[in-house]
Amino acid sequence: MNNFSHQETTIDDVTNIYRFKVTPFLENLIHQDTSGTLKKQFYPSLNEITDEDGLADPIGDRNHSPIPGLVHRYTDRALLLVSSECFAYCRFCFRKCMLTDSAPFSAKITDALTYIQNHEEIWEVILSGGDPLTLSNDALAEIISAVQKINHVAVIRIHTRAPVVNPSRIDNRLIDILHNCKKPVYCVLHINHVRELAPEVTHACSMLLSAGVSMLSQSVLLRGINDSSEILSTLMRQLVQNRIKPYYLHNCDLAKGNAHFRVDLETGRKIVSELRTKVSGICLPTFILDIPHGFGKVPASQEYVSRNDHCWQIIDGMGKTHQFPQT
Ligand SMILES: *Cc1c(COP(=O)(O)O)cnc(C)c1O
Ligand code: SF4
Repeated sequence: MNNFSHQETTIDDVTNIYRFKVTPFLENLIHQDTSGTLKKQFYPSLNEITDEDGLADPIGDRNHSPIPGLVHRYTDRALLLVSSECFAYCRFCFRKCMLTDSAPFSAKITDALTYIQNHEEIWEVILSGGDPLTLSNDALAEIISAVQKINHVAVIRIHTRAPVVNPSRIDNRLIDILHNCKKPVYCVLHINHVRELAPEVTHACSMLLSAGVSMLSQSVLLRGINDSSEILSTLMRQLVQNRIKPYYLHNCDLAKGNAHFRVDLETGRKIVSELRTKVSGICLPTFILDIPHGFGKVPASQEYVSRNDHCWQIIDGMGKTHQFPQT
């Protein structure tokens, strides 16, 4: 892959490999942000093609995908990858290498629904992608209506970044669809810095809350963006003040091309323990790590993740030990 050395590498080389897109809303916000916090998250950097150590499928989705577009890693919940599109592409994305080809997504939605129907242990269905809200309201209405008809599915969850990057997507028709859903809908908002919480964004979230949707948040711990307990405490407090409960703070996955964003585990733990001393319990997300190759998520706490002389050791949900290659 390092055949760039003979000629000068340009940003076009990056965007030829990994999609680049921002919304006009985000572009405007980035323009006003002198800190560069937002720009770094969405504008490509040459580092993306010089980092060679990451994985194309860092959390092992493929190992747990019985049919295209569906990931069933945990017994009681299934992930439906309904879209390979996002409104804007995060440069540190863990599915970075998968968002280039739409084939494994959405195409087989009816097969995925049949699978869920046939697996009574599935209590929760999570719409993910890409961003599920890139689908049209009609397409979403169809999926939600089909999922809620499955008796054993009790809860529907939507993982999205839309309120942050394209708040006008939260329109009245979408609100109607969610409001009319007969099963509880949880929305997990991906947000990493308080600068993402523009007034339009909090308004979009308040519309979702008014529709009876419960709001949670997930953030990724990112070097040079939110890797301090001060920055995180401001974000978490603002989220809670807007009735959004911080759910997960992710250790940055070992995806190819995102090494420049990763915070080592030792530092990550230190930041999180400082955060713990600063904020109310309701402002605290769980610091979580997804074990490479599909062994699942575990809290990055001492109980699961420990260090010996050479490397990190992680104990997965089944009690099996894995080595983690991060320093
Ligand atoms: C992260 C993830 C989930 C959701 O996990 P929670 O801990 O319930 O938030 C479900 N399925 C897959 C495949 C996942 O990667
Ligand atoms: S919104 Fe999620 S899926 Fe889309 S680019 Fe960002 S991290 Fe990846």
